[in-house]
Amino acid sequence: ALKQKGRDGWQFFNDYQHHQALQRLNVTLGLRLAIEREELEARFQPIVSSDRSRIVGAELLLRWFPPQGEVSPGIFIPIAEMSGAILPIGLWVFREGCRAEVEWRRRWGAHAPYVSINLSARQLTDESLLDEMRRVLMETAADPTRITLEVTETALMADIDANIRMLRRLTDMGLRLAVDDFGTGYSSLAQLTRLPVDILKIDRAFVDGIETHHESRTVVRAVISLGRSLGLQLVAEGVETQGQHLELMSGGCDLFQGYLFHAPMKPKELILAVNEQLRQLTEREQDQNEEC
Ligand code: C2E
Ligand code: MG
Ligand code: MG
Ligand code: MG
Repeated sequence: ALKQKGRDGWQFFNDYQHHQALQRLNVTLGLRLAIEREELEARFQPIVSSDRSRIVGAELLLRWFPPQGEVSPGIFIPIAEMSGAILPIGLWVFREGCRAEVEWRRRWGAHAPYVSINLSARQLTDESLLDEMRRVLMETAADPTRITLEVTETALMADIDANIRMLRRLTDMGLRLAVDDFGTGYSSLAQLTRLPVDILKIDRAFVDGIETHHESRTVVRAVISLGRSLGLQLVAEGVETQGQHLELMSGGCDLFQGYLFHAPMKPKELILAVNEQLRQLTEREQDQNEEC
């Protein structure tokens, strides 16, 4: 296989590059048909509060099952961003998220978890994004104030001036904004205050090192106090151990997401989990009333 190498002419692909190029091509072609072939599925990972680990929200995480077997989002999302397939896919994801919001609110009213939806940088530069999202919100009758959009810190800072305008329009629609993977980019405090942000999600890499690395612990504590002083909610992602949970709580973190609490689950499983939790809460309340 050949690839063009600047002005100097041509150079042969090595095996690894060849494999990567083939994979990219396969994924690009496959993704174009993924929606109509109904190969996409939503999973939801609960976000819990420090009050008895109650499920207060859930992040929608996309799964793709082409005929040859599951491909992870770590592989197909970057390729979808390059090829532009992320635009129709992102809209499909947004619609799924809106449907979930409506269904959960119908089931649980004020106890319904909020829905968190990932938005890629490529979507933010799309002229038609706002109209399309507005239309989906109307068609599904979803409540935008119960939907949070997650944009990674790196994506936000890539073109901050253009992004600010777009994000303001989205938050004007009532949607809430979370900065995803916070701590991995290099944003300054001044830049952060220019964005209409409601939530900071502390990246898994920092949570991971919190018990073993003094630096991670310092960064996490600083991010939490920074976030709090700006009036933001803090979500720690990738919480896997009780030790991490305790350290994050003592640092002042409000919300947690990770395998320690729940892995991403199918929509039906999420409904069972929330039902079970509400049942336990009412039981506890009844017990307390009897004691009085
Ligand atoms: P993210 O938005 O930071 O999502 C968190 C990722 O961490 C998810 O990986 C989740 O399954 C994983 N995770 C959660 N708890 C734990 C834990 O305790 N330990 C470990 N090791 N991992 C944990 P997933 O589902 O593979 O998604 C990877 C990334 O793909 C996401 O990172 C997000 O950037 C992207 N992605 C997923 N779905 C979508 C989507 O619908 N749209 C866009 N634009 N990106 C998406
Ligand atoms: Mg996310
Ligand atoms: Mg994240
Ligand atoms: Mg992350």
